[in-house]
Amino acid sequence: MSLTLVQAWKQARQRLEAAGLAGPVIDARLLVEAAADATRVDIVTDPQRPLTPDQEQRLADYLQRREQREPVSQILGRKGFWKLMLAVNDQVLTPRPDTETVVEYVLRDFPQHAPWTVLDLGVGSGAILLSVLAERPAARGLGVDISEEALAVARDNAASLGLAPRSVFLRGDWTTGLADGNFDLVVANPPYVATDVIETLEPEVRRYEPRLALDGGPDGLDAYRRLAPEILRVLKPGGRFAVEIGYDQKVAVEALFREAGAEGVHTLPDLAQRDRVVTGLKKPLETSG
Ligand code: GLN
Repeated sequence: MSLTLVQAWKQARQRLEAAGLAGPVIDARLLVEAAADATRVDIVTDPQRPLTPDQEQRLADYLQRREQREPVSQILGRKGFWKLMLAVNDQVLTPRPDTETVVEYVLRDFPQHAPWTVLDLGVGSGAILLSVLAERPAARGLGVDISEEALAVARDNAASLGLAPRSVFLRGDWTTGLADGNFDLVVANPPYVATDVIETLEPEVRRYEPRLALDGGPDGLDAYRRLAPEILRVLKPGGRFAVEIGYDQKVAVEALFREAGAEGVHTLPDLAQRDRVVTGLKKPLETSG
């Protein structure tokens, strides 16, 4: 007797609940949809549709992986961010809704049709850069990452979203090798978790996501110590930056950017009203008269 869609969903939910997962209902739905090649609507409108033996096998495999705490995003190989669907794997940080705060800031402050330039440092899957380019059709962007594996993911995403003509991806150590004064905007979601804290995070994060994208050194601030002066160096006069921070890093990161000479430094909250994005600008050129 083969399982129907609705039975599969119910069983999946029960298994994931029994495994003690935080979001068993949504996880079960996403895994059943993917395993059974079904849409969300199919589960409601065609609940008695039977799964094929292959689909049942695939679902069993997905559920077993999820019970081992592999993130749904890595099981499915994709994650929605902003308005995009992005390919992801274990070489990139899975994009988080918190990071959409960076995109919102950019869309508020950067004009729709002007040909400005954006640099994404530690571009990972391309989530921030590609969301911005998708919304601003005259903008062009450079994504830098130290990980060649991450760059492969970002390049794939750019190509499948039709954004390859306006984006370039380069391997690099933050801004090393980039010229001074070149970008209107610099964005980053650097590693900012203190090394000791990583072991306290959920298994989905500490066991499956790349350390390189999480580990911010002893106090979590190592990346910003380098990034603050480097970002100010590569921005054009009057250019702006927006970097994601941990909820308790506002004071320290704002200070680093002020020390580096940034003006108008302030912090924006995420949807949960936690401090999430430090932003500011490089002093514009003096205008005479
Ligand atoms: N927000 C991520 C987490 O705590 C960390 C991301 C980062 O270090 N940039 O899971």
